[in-house]
Amino acid sequence: MFICIHAILTKGMNAPRNLRKTTLRLYPTLKQEAALHALLRSHQQLYNAALEERIDCYRKTGESLTFAAQCKSLTALRKQCPEWAEAANCSSQQMTLRRLDKAFAAFFRRVKAGQAPGFPRFKSLARFPGFSFKGHGDGWRFTPGADWRHGTLRLSGVGHLRARGNARQGGDVRASDVLHRDGKWYLSLTLDIGTPQRERTGNAAMAFDWGVQTFFTGVDHAGEELRLDNPRWWQTEKDHIIGLQQAVSRKRNKRSNRRRKAVQRLASARAKTARRRLDWAHKETAKLAGRFALVATEGLRIANMTRSACGTMEEPRKNVAQKAGLNREILDTAPALFTSLLRCKVLETGGEWVEAPTLKLKPSQRCPACWALAKKSLSMRTHTCAQCGYTEPRDLASARVVLNWALGTQNGQELAGIGARGRPCETPSFAQQRVE
Ligand SMILES: [Zn+2]
Repeated sequence: MFICIHAILTKGMNAPRNLRKTTLRLYPTLKQEAALHALLRSHQQLYNAALEERIDCYRKTGESLTFAAQCKSLTALRKQCPEWAEAANCSSQQMTLRRLDKAFAAFFRRVKAGQAPGFPRFKSLARFPGFSFKGHGDGWRFTPGADWRHGTLRLSGVGHLRARGNARQGGDVRASDVLHRDGKWYLSLTLDIGTPQRERTGNAAMAFDWGVQTFFTGVDHAGEELRLDNPRWWQTEKDHIIGLQQAVSRKRNKRSNRRRKAVQRLASARAKTARRRLDWAHKETAKLAGRFALVATEGLRIANMTRSACGTMEEPRKNVAQKAGLNREILDTAPALFTSLLRCKVLETGGEWVEAPTLKLKPSQRCPACWALAKKSLSMRTHTCAQCGYTEPRDLASARVVLNWALGTQNGQELAGIGARGRPCETPSFAQQRVE
């Protein structure tokens, strides 16, 4: 049974809205599936036509077409050719144009940042992810079951579709995406949940850092260490996935049925791994958010952590193999996913989420006991302070630095100088460190 709920925190423009996404699996009948495929095809054709229009316009005039201009062309097209108007709902077609607009915005952003961007591509039906709706009631309506368990999606031109899945918290339906993945259909609903319902029993403060040996190393304000072991999904499932990849590459005929089936098996194995990871991250972050009123971490972007290990031709990096291994582990355990889920849940309980300025504070180089800085290479797994002799595993020491900074205390004293957050300490003071 497929049940997958992922929550995202989306910032509203004005009024504080609490938007969450919930994914349900759709179970169309054979007739409905044919209608869904026809809809998907019409959106794919629209996407490719709009991409062609943008390319043509740029070749002829040197100007880029805007989203608004393409919406106007769409209106004209719907008048001239009724088959376009019959194929799909107008605002849903606009959402497909919006999807292309976003692809171009991302392309230009990467050009500006000096990265190597890929130009937006024409999409085959197999690669086309789905289509979207906004304005609940405009060509679609979702009726949830009791307690937001399962439900029915009415889609104009398709009918009433059975949906299975469970939203943790219901709300006002705002938008939806109908997604086609690995031959299965999904409904991703955007809900405005109003006030989030999440209980917190604890009132402690905690800071954490990412490790390789342990996935997550935290420390609470009483000085207690918290560890989450690296689940190493890749380690356990790697052989299985590699076997499936090899099965695909052995099948040379790209159009054969056997190859298509092998590709499908690989995709569903990967999807299963992704679901296991998401499920695990939801459970662990929920436990943490229930215990801690303040959670602090480095405001370090994962993109920075996993930046190309090889460097560039002009400036090759040292320790390439070592960094590449670290990248593998970092991406494998997906701290970005874990962090965003934890942040979301902490805020839902009315807790405080604090991000320390990594570059200014340098938590992995700093001694939590005396605040002295000393450069450490990635291979040094233990922090040993040359100034005061304080010794502790690297990740734990860096979590402690972040916690001291967040609480504004050190050794029970108010913390001044570099990186001090400059706020009165409301939480019980951070206990004395163990000096070994
Ligand atoms: Zn020290």
